[in-house]
Amino acid sequence: MTTRRPRLAPVLAAALLLAASAIAAPAPSVPAWPRAVPQGSLVVAHVEPGSRVTFGGRDLRVTARGEVVFGIGRDARGPAEVDVRHADGTPERIAIEVVAREWPTERVVGVPPKTVEPPPEVAERIRREQARVVAARARDDARSDFLARFTWPLQGRISGRFGNQRVYVVDGHDVPKSPHSGMDIAAPEGTPVKAPAGGIVTFVDADLYLTGGTLLIDHGHGVSSNFLHLLRIDVKAGDRVEQGEVIGAVGKTGRASGPHLHWGLNWFDTRLDPLLLLARD
Ligand SMILES: [Zn+2]
Repeated sequence: MTTRRPRLAPVLAAALLLAASAIAAPAPSVPAWPRAVPQGSLVVAHVEPGSRVTFGGRDLRVTARGEVVFGIGRDARGPAEVDVRHADGTPERIAIEVVAREWPTERVVGVPPKTVEPPPEVAERIRREQARVVAARARDDARSDFLARFTWPLQGRISGRFGNQRVYVVDGHDVPKSPHSGMDIAAPEGTPVKAPAGGIVTFVDADLYLTGGTLLIDHGHGVSSNFLHLLRIDVKAGDRVEQGEVIGAVGKTGRASGPHLHWGLNWFDTRLDPLLLLARD
């Protein structure tokens, strides 16, 4: 009997150690909050289910598994502050450093002049069209398609980067415009465009004044993709699309100097950089 007792101690110690590590160590599938993110990032983070999370004055949806998502805009200055009220009522403020990026100027030659300096009579049309797109982006569905590892909508050279300053050259003079709101991928006219992640088609219009053939896919929780200048659109509003499904074809409709896909990514009305999403783990 006395000889067996000492053997119990190490076994108990090991068991206690295992129990302690099971409590202390987070599940391997739950990454910690990022300490710093670049401007233009879509941020996915985890809390315990049942927590309440607010960011930018908005209550974020929390999935059953505790995922939340939000966006850090191009011009955001750090730190980004997220308020978490844990399921047990404990408040916590999480500060994420926002890493500033450089925004070079891109000069764009060869777009139709009427799309750079639209005649006054189309101003109302442009305003109405933009309001419809903004309304589609306000959607806040419980679907979590945004959790997918996003894939390229087509293969091609990046011909315009998110956030860069844009200057259009029209009749020999420079016209500065808003920063580029997405990523341009050059490809021959008619190249199939595939959904980078699943979602619901929330907007389709073959002929918007500035963006031509325009398509929006909602990935849930306010995250949406927009595809502009399309030659052809193969889906209709309300359709469910899966990642990799062909949704349209590359064109040069609207304010475009040549055939390319413009892929924009939004968290509600905050514009984000799709390229950062493709590099996401
Ligand atoms: Zn573009």
